[in-house]
This record gives sequence, C-alpha cells and structure tokens, in this order.
Amino acid sequence: MSLSQQNAIEQNLQNVREKIAAAAHLCGRPSEEITLLAVSKTKPASAVEEAIAAGQLAFGENYVQEGVDKIAHFAGHQPALTWHFIGPLQSNKSRLVAENFDWCHTIDRLKIAQRLNEQRPGDLAPLQVLVQVNISDESSKSGIAVSEVAELATQIMAMPNLTLRGLMAIPAVETDYARQLEVFGQMRDALKELQKICPQADTLSMGMTDDMPAAIAAGSTMVRIGTAIFGARDYSAKQ
Ligand SMILES: *Cc1c(COP(=O)(O)O)cnc(C)c1O
Repeated sequence: MSLSQQNAIEQNLQNVREKIAAAAHLCGRPSEEITLLAVSKTKPASAVEEAIAAGQLAFGENYVQEGVDKIAHFAGHQPALTWHFIGPLQSNKSRLVAENFDWCHTIDRLKIAQRLNEQRPGDLAPLQVLVQVNISDESSKSGIAVSEVAELATQIMAMPNLTLRGLMAIPAVETDYARQLEVFGQMRDALKELQKICPQADTLSMGMTDDMPAAIAAGSTMVRIGTAIFGARDYSAKQ
C-alpha cells in the first residue's frame, strides 16, 4: 500500500469521527454514545492495520472466512480488537462465528441463535448478539418483522452463551433524509419495546456511509462504516 493510501485511511477515519460528532451534537447526544465500526470486508489486512494505527479498534466483517482470516492475523493485538460479524449467516458457518467473533449482528431465526449458543466455547465471554430487523427492505430475506422481535428475544435471553444487546437494521436505500429518519425512528421505537423485556439491550446498530447522520439522529449507538473509511469496494475477486 502506498504512503498516500495510508494517509487516506487515517484522514478518512478522522473525517468520519468528525461527522459522527457533528451529527450527535445536532441532536444533543454525547458522541461517546456512538461506536464506530470500521467495515473492512473485501479490504486487505494492510488496510485494517492502517486503521488500527489511526486508533480504530472495532471492525465489522461480512464474509465468515475472510473475517476469520483477519482475526487470526491480528490475534493477540494490544489493545484488544473487537470483531463484529455483520453479514448473512448460514447454519453451516455458525461455528466459525461462535469460535472467533465477539459480536454477531444478524440473528434472524431461532436455529441460528441455538447453534451459536451451543458452539460458543466456554472459555470465551458470551457472544454479544443483535436481532436483525427487516424494517423497510421487502426484497431482502434477512431480518424479522418488528412484531416478531419479542418472541425471538425471549428465547435468546434464555441462552447462557449469548448476550442480547439490541437490534440491527439495513434499511432499503433511501436518499431522502426525512424518509431515512422515519425508518430509523421505527427502529428506535422497537428498541424501546425490547428494553421492556430486556433492560440490558443498549445497542442500535444502524447507519452506513450514506445514511449515518439520520441514523444518529434516530438514536443509533453503533454505525457501520465501510466506504467512507476504506474507499469503494472491488467485488471482482469475490463470488
Ligand atoms: C458493507 C456493509 C456496511 C458498510 O457499508 P458502507 O456503505 O460501505 O459504509 C455496513 N453494514 C453492512 C451490514 C454491510 O454489509
């Protein structure tokens, strides 16, 4: 990686942090309430390393094997890194997530939660999990309806190796700020409902490069930012 690209990641991170602070300030929230996840999917370990050098410690990955490889690459790093699985999760990949990641954002069915609970090694802290809600994207198969959250949450809360921390959403692409805010507001209301049965649920994972300010205005506590930190992704090597 060239020197100018290294500087770019550091500069991009600084810009994103400033945008988070500005969006938080606008709605009177302390910016410390908002965790920045750097979404490093498709990006090389060298890019992650540059982000770490710029003080970034929490990372999001979408593809199980790619994430596991990066986790192994940075094993033992001090200060500790936190790895979040944020992609669609198939049953046959659940063990790798249970054994390697700190968080999983995409729980959308009982079977996946049961497998992660059974497969989480006893010597690790409980896996921190979020229930994925399909808030607006009818074309997506991922996520459950808001009306189904309480039942799945109750089942997860009985699982000793999982800690339910809240909700996650990937809304349909929407460029209008007011409409973004309306959809994210439904997530804020869903978290409030969840907190009635699960007071420990403190996390709303929402907001990406193109809708981060609205997500923060609606109460996001964890924004997942890829492009604005690492640049556009090249998927040509994938599939
Ligand atoms: C890729 C991805 C992101 C990051 O998206 P950007 O638009 O690049 O910021 C966030 N969340 C999920 C679930 C993703 O798949």
